[in-house]
Amino acid sequence: MMSKNNRRLIWLRSDLRMMDNILFSRDYESSEETIVIYFHAIHEWKLHKKSNIQRALIFDRLKYLYLLFKEKNIPFFIFEINSFSEIPDFLIQFMNQFSIQKLLSNYEYEYDESERDHAVHFLLSRNNFEYIQMHNQTLLEPGTVLNGEKKMYKVFTPFKKKWIHQLDRSKFNIETNHYNTLTDKIIFESAQNAYNNFFRDVEYENKYFYKEKEILEIFNSFVLNHLADYEFTRDIPAINGTSKMSPYLAVGIVSPQTLIKICIDSKIALDNSWVNEIIWREFYIHLLQAFPDLGQNKPFLQYTKFIPWNESEDDFNKWKKGMTGFPIVDAGMRQLIEEGWMHNRVRMIVASFLTKNLLIHWKKGQDWFMQHLVDGTFASNNGGWQWSASTGTDSQPYFRVFNPITQSKNFDPNGEYIKKYVPELKNIPRKYIHEPWDYIQLNSENIYYEPMVSLSSSRKQAIETFKFAKEKY
Ligand code: FAD
Repeated sequence: MMSKNNRRLIWLRSDLRMMDNILFSRDYESSEETIVIYFHAIHEWKLHKKSNIQRALIFDRLKYLYLLFKEKNIPFFIFEINSFSEIPDFLIQFMNQFSIQKLLSNYEYEYDESERDHAVHFLLSRNNFEYIQMHNQTLLEPGTVLNGEKKMYKVFTPFKKKWIHQLDRSKFNIETNHYNTLTDKIIFESAQNAYNNFFRDVEYENKYFYKEKEILEIFNSFVLNHLADYEFTRDIPAINGTSKMSPYLAVGIVSPQTLIKICIDSKIALDNSWVNEIIWREFYIHLLQAFPDLGQNKPFLQYTKFIPWNESEDDFNKWKKGMTGFPIVDAGMRQLIEEGWMHNRVRMIVASFLTKNLLIHWKKGQDWFMQHLVDGTFASNNGGWQWSASTGTDSQPYFRVFNPITQSKNFDPNGEYIKKYVPELKNIPRKYIHEPWDYIQLNSENIYYEPMVSLSSSRKQAIETFKFAKEKY
């Protein structure tokens, strides 16, 4: 039997990669043999509303990693468990069984995930095992970009300035190909059994899976062909002007380090609007770490607890199904269902429509997004929803309500995006596409929905409701 000190266990979670994964870096190079583990927790996947499309991406990635690790003589164990609460005991047993002394993982900042890790930490240390956690989800460690009072910023722009100032480019050059391989046949056989067992009943279809080499080709092509125009094209949903990296960042197939490194190598200045979006991603993760209440779905602005939200399931269903009668909103909601992804500009429009014009709680929209997005991540989703609903940090003031018709005219002037996802409007002339109702009525066709609310009175009501809540607080 091996002595306990010669093996380490790397626990992968939302960092499903080796490249630029600090757990495989020189920092942790030692004489230890490496074993890798992954848990699929049924209860939490349901609780966190993980979409089928993201599950499928993860499953394909696990299959790919299993083979990759096998080639490198690293056993990779994949287990299905009922819930996070089983993990501490499971790990103790597993680490005892395979004579492992040390566990390594990267931090996850969501509430349940943090609780899970605390429980693991507690039990492991009580049983004399070591548990090391690293920060690798962001370029800058949460808790290190702080204002003059050593507190987390509550608004984006000063956070961004400080973030850029603190970014240390030398840190991009960590090599993450350091591991010691294993020869113990029994362990490989056990891993193979766990793999066969795990995938025995798993069925799924996936259109998003690419190997990292292919993902990096997509990104390089974006950098070469679209980055220069990104500032102008990123808001036009009919144009393929964004990087489409979000699914891979969400499950950790690529890291922000890798993408920023490519920008630097391509001599791109980091104060551009694409990097700005990466900093938004960082901002929301840093916020979650600084304000754990966000992870429990509490609003950042306390007074918004007093908003009497609209509970109509009928209204909510019309929004979910893309039957609101507002073409740009319906196009977005249908894109989400068809593709598991929605353009950022349209995410903002549909979120504002739900939370302001319909006055439906942002949490319901957040959950619906999570259930359908391939790139669903708690921090960005919660951040995006609370921003749109004016309940979050750096939120738009509550009296700023997006007008979906104006947005549609500005960002989809020819209605190309609308016509793609709302095909019943494909023959509507350009000048009527944003407000097709009169044209439809005039031609006595019954092809589309009546607008479900009046924009002006629902806007007024939203403003009054927010004002009322603020006064009540
Ligand atoms: P690009 O424009 O190429 O941006 C590059 C990367 O920056 C993205 O991949 C993403 O990681 C990050 N990013 C871009 N915009 C934002 C933003 N506004 N906030 C935070 N990070 C950003 N993004 C998610 O990754 N997961 C979510 O669950 C999610 N939910 C959202 C919900 C709402 C209501 C809103 C308004 C936005 C949400 N976003 C979310 C942010 C954004 O819409 C997506 O990241 C973006 O559309 C992904 O496309 P892309 O990779 O082509 O982006």
